[in-house]
Amino acid sequence: MWQNLGAMTKTLMFGFTLSELETLVQDLGAPKYTAKQLADWIYRKHAPSFEVMTNLSKSLRTELEQHFSLHKTPPITPQHSADGTIKYLYPFDGGSVEAAYIPDQDRATLCLSTQVGCKMGCSFCMTGRQGFYGNLTPHQILTQLECLPERENITNLVFMGMGEPLDNLENVLNSLTVLTSDWGYHLSHQRITVSTVGLIPQLEVFFQRTQVRFALSVHSPFDEERAQWVPVQKVYPLSQVIQTIKKWETGKKRRLSVEYILFESKNDSPRHAHALAKLLKGLDIRVNLIKFHHIPGSEFQSPPREKLEEFQQILMSEGIQATIRKSRGEDIEAACGLLSSKKVYSG
Ligand code: SF4
Repeated sequence: MWQNLGAMTKTLMFGFTLSELETLVQDLGAPKYTAKQLADWIYRKHAPSFEVMTNLSKSLRTELEQHFSLHKTPPITPQHSADGTIKYLYPFDGGSVEAAYIPDQDRATLCLSTQVGCKMGCSFCMTGRQGFYGNLTPHQILTQLECLPERENITNLVFMGMGEPLDNLENVLNSLTVLTSDWGYHLSHQRITVSTVGLIPQLEVFFQRTQVRFALSVHSPFDEERAQWVPVQKVYPLSQVIQTIKKWETGKKRRLSVEYILFESKNDSPRHAHALAKLLKGLDIRVNLIKFHHIPGSEFQSPPREKLEEFQQILMSEGIQATIRKSRGEDIEAACGLLSSKKVYSG
């Protein structure tokens, strides 16, 4: 469960939940309440060392220093977009990942990664092409926020970077616990969105264990077509994913959304828009329409703006709330579907 620092044999403590910290302090013979003090130092005061934790006894601090580390890996090679987006590379043991800082007028969003690569193999996605190299630990997921130079500006978090979050469920849920608990970062559930292609068993656990927002990647309302682009459709068909959402979320307050990337002359027709509206009938869900961002060697093209607007109008005329998402960071390959750490793997 705990991640060691290799040859140094110290365990990385950043990323522990309160219950893990409680077990730890009790194993060291300290009272249980000490765990809350530790959490406060780690997540609220961002303590760089145990030495500064002056409300812990000297002997406990010495003990912690011997066995644990508060080390975190800072990001490297920031790439700046003309629109203000900054993409960072986090060189973790086991593989590097990217995260994107996206400032806007009244908010600043961090798009973070949950896996090195991805198993899902979506045909329009750079990460999907890269293959899968491993899951990120809570330490690594949370480090993307903790070590971000713009951390204090962040108002929103989206789990939409590299990887399928629900394919790394326990680590993502533990990270969400640290992010939303009053002993942790104490961020509002309303400020965090987890995106998924729709892994049904994991989705049921997700609905039961967290209140953060949820976004479903759809991209086609038609089964056969979606299966070509989002292979997990063959295992968990969209109609069953929608049933699962209805089963768990009807009457609940959680904000639900659908992500729909438009590919020119493939899924941007009025027929698609009407079928999508029909599929979503009865759900309190909003649709985010996203222009496809070209990746090398791809069969897909970006549609003109009018196509997105036409698609939006049809959805709205059918009573579905729909917005066109602004493209951000395209010039530095930080936009939707473009994150990857290919540079690291190609040496
Ligand atoms: S779109 Fe998401 S789930 Fe699909 S391959 Fe890319 S990172 Fe994985």
